Amino acid sequence: MSGGPGDRRVEGAAADGSSTAGGPGDSSRRGDLDSWLSLRRPPDMPSAQDIDATTAAKPSLAGLGRGGLMAALAAIGVPDRQLKMRAAQLWSWIYARGARSFDVMSDVSKELRASLAAAYALERPGIVREEVSQDGTRKWLLRLAKRGHEARLPEVETVYIPEPDRGTLCISSQIGCTLTCSFCHTGTQRLVRNLEVAEIVGQILLARDRLGDWPDAEPTGGARRPAPGTGFNPYEHRPERRITNVVLMGMGEPLYNFDNVRDAMAIAADGDGLALSKRRITLSTSGVVPEIRRWGDEAGTMLAVSLHAVRDQLRDRLVPINRKYPIAELMAACRAYPGLSNARRITFEYVMLKDLNDSLADAKALVKLVAGIPAKINLIPFNPWPGTTHQCSDWEQIERFAEIVNRAGYASPVRTPRGRDIMAACGQLRSASLNLTARERRAASG
Ligand code: SAH
Ligand code: SF4
Repeated sequence: MSGGPGDRRVEGAAADGSSTAGGPGDSSRRGDLDSWLSLRRPPDMPSAQDIDATTAAKPSLAGLGRGGLMAALAAIGVPDRQLKMRAAQLWSWIYARGARSFDVMSDVSKELRASLAAAYALERPGIVREEVSQDGTRKWLLRLAKRGHEARLPEVETVYIPEPDRGTLCISSQIGCTLTCSFCHTGTQRLVRNLEVAEIVGQILLARDRLGDWPDAEPTGGARRPAPGTGFNPYEHRPERRITNVVLMGMGEPLYNFDNVRDAMAIAADGDGLALSKRRITLSTSGVVPEIRRWGDEAGTMLAVSLHAVRDQLRDRLVPINRKYPIAELMAACRAYPGLSNARRITFEYVMLKDLNDSLADAKALVKLVAGIPAKINLIPFNPWPGTTHQCSDWEQIERFAEIVNRAGYASPVRTPRGRDIMAACGQLRSASLNLTARERRAASG
């Protein structure tokens, strides 16, 4: 059987556009899913799909670390001496092959599969809504389980951005954000809570499900069966992956949810599972200085820093965490980032705000500020959202700005806005069900 009624309901929606159950066979219809994803959208307009998300009754194993899997196995009576081996089997099925049902786990005994299915599910976060932009960007609104005293089911967004040479998944680390950067839509939503490890990893699993981005369930030839811990690469059969990169640039400040984000990225980077190289994972921070070095030591991913201004006076206004950790301290932390080299550069993000931070003097000061740091400078045209008072710089000004940065020897790609029509571009994410009050809006944009 499949991993629970919730699984089937989402599959049903994917296959036929309704929220009715599609039957157990649906989960393997990757071809159908592909064509649904590409054909459902009329060529000239974005699509939106409401999906009836459900919450699983049984705890899900999808998103757990090795320790969590071993504890779950022990709880259903698996003997201690088998725990490591059984957890490795589950790991491989969940993270290397994307199993959504215990049924397919052909190297696990029938009895154990039955016990697992009786106690657990392989559920991902529920999808409430899926939107596809004119440019192919996809945004999923996810509904998570309630924790503690939460009044309603929390929601979070994940975005997939396809490009010719890569596919980037932009994931969230918190529901809302405690920080209030003046140009960011997420910053207008107060923090609801940190995401848990399984909710962070779940965003990757779910995106892989929706994009059909798993290797074939059954490898050809018995010899190719995954042997846990042997570095078996199931993608040998289908080397082209849709998700090649993960960026922690969705909702929230990832360094304020340090431990969960670190543990989730360890699962994402594990070579026996999702196997995303740490060089293809980028954490973006607004500048939580004391955690930057620790992140490098404990997680070792690529780093992006939301700089956005070269003077404290302006950065204090745009990125208020600057009042706590001013530019000089931030730059010192960047210079000391573990593993920094020409092959592992820091990306400095700089949102282009008309008449605020886009003068040519600013461009020159920016180049001086990052001098000596192996760096890329990413110029991001400001993405507007309802209620903002900011405006995007004129295109000619962005080009003049980029020219100065380029001439100083920095690659300075201007990030093409992606998914603006579905509010999926940088800084446009916000839990859709939360409507801003007029006061919140004024407070956020003032
Ligand atoms: N909290 C982290 C990561 C999430 S934001 C951070 O601030 O770095 C990801 C990137 O989008 C950041 O560089 C952020 O400054 C930028 N951003 C936020 N709002 C934006 C907007 N409206 N237009 C363009 N970029 C924006
Ligand atoms: Fe939070 Fe980042 Fe938005 Fe600032 S830019 S409010 S830190 S999500």
